Amino acid sequence: MQRYFIDENCIQDNYIMIDDYNHKHMQRVMRYHNGDQVVCILPSGKTYIYEIIDIVIGKLQQKEELNEAHELDVFVTLVYGLPKNDKFELVLQKATELGVHRIVPFLSKRSIIKTDAKTFTKKTERYQRILKEASEQSYRQVIPELMPLMTINDLSLYLSDINLVAYEESSKQGEHAHFAQALLSTYQSITIIVGPEGGFDESEIAQMEKLDIVPCSLGKRILRSETAPLYMLSVIGYTRELMK
Ligand code: SAH
Repeated sequence: MQRYFIDENCIQDNYIMIDDYNHKHMQRVMRYHNGDQVVCILPSGKTYIYEIIDIVIGKLQQKEELNEAHELDVFVTLVYGLPKNDKFELVLQKATELGVHRIVPFLSKRSIIKTDAKTFTKKTERYQRILKEASEQSYRQVIPELMPLMTINDLSLYLSDINLVAYEESSKQGEHAHFAQALLSTYQSITIIVGPEGGFDESEIAQMEKLDIVPCSLGKRILRSETAPLYMLSVIGYTRELMK
């Protein structure tokens, strides 16, 4: 059944007056009629079946609640050294499918892309749409939050119980234990940090180590900047959901 994230201001008691974007999707893409049913995810994360009672004005009536649990049981923040735009969009979509909760883009010393906070903000609407659609498609109950572009100096704002930076030099030096070890501890939140195409500058790693962020390897091969966060999220998902 098609899923829609609903904004707070669309909800009226047991009814929803659907927003324009979702309304168009229901009419033009799905070609729904009165009586058809959809799944709506409310801002609280609760999910319900709603029936379309007036497709022309976009009015839906609440039916039954669904007891869904599709979220990872730990809060995951991805801090990501901005790669080229199309790669960033790919990571937004795939990281959402893999369960990320918050994405914090930052411009690192070796970021190839030239941008600034203002230019980044202009693209935010498009990025939000990618996050929303990926969340609907992957049965998420919350849409990951995209933070404004930051610099490495703001990193302390986004730390968690566990904090790891994927560092290519750790891999080259043969350190392959830190990531797996960290995931064995008890934690409620985790921050993973990944560099752009050019990797991390040593001074950036030194700055992170001062914040007790642990450099770790992702195995024996060097992954592309867009592969690394997806590998890390897959491993986190595996340990939290499949390994029990
Ligand atoms: N150009 C660099 C590689 C950058 S890879 C070089 O040739 O050395 C981009 C980012 O992905 C890195 O900064 C790191 O965060 C992550 N990454 C990729 N492969 C990794 C690995 N094997 N171990 C740890 N981090 C890795």
